[in-house]
Amino acid sequence: MEKLDIVLYPEAGLREVCMPIPEMNDSLDQLIDEMLYTMYDAPGIGLAAPQVAVQQRLIVMDISEKGDDPLVLMNPEIIQSAGSITWEEGCLSMPGIYANIKRPSDILVRGMDREGNNIEVEASELLAVCIQHEIDHLNGKMFIDHLSGIKRTRALQQFRKLMDQKES
Ligand code: ZN
Repeated sequence: MEKLDIVLYPEAGLREVCMPIPEMNDSLDQLIDEMLYTMYDAPGIGLAAPQVAVQQRLIVMDISEKGDDPLVLMNPEIIQSAGSITWEEGCLSMPGIYANIKRPSDILVRGMDREGNNIEVEASELLAVCIQHEIDHLNGKMFIDHLSGIKRTRALQQFRKLMDQKES
């Protein structure tokens, strides 16, 4: 299995709106396996295709403790949302940065699974947070974009500092 390179902010591809996936095929199936492998290896609980430089509407997630319950969604769409929750989020494309983000706590998502079936997923708390975070990536949005001006600026400065330290 090939581990994919995870694209880091501020790579331009992370700011693009990704293309819908017309139907399942073998190369997508392979990409899904590689994305899951890359996500577990990172380790992370979610990964969106643009984070591995593929501009398509595909996300993979697994919030289980053992990492044995993957959720794969293509063309995911939130069709209902309610409630509110604040969760400390991080992102594999901004390693080392964590921020409290407020989002709806309960969502209903429609999408296509890896067998090509149209499915609906009800999610709450961490899974709802994770799905919304990953769908944001498909729309060119980063989690820090949910922060107010000064908090966002601070997070960006902190990330730049971390990256500079890494390079030197
Ligand atoms: Zn992310």
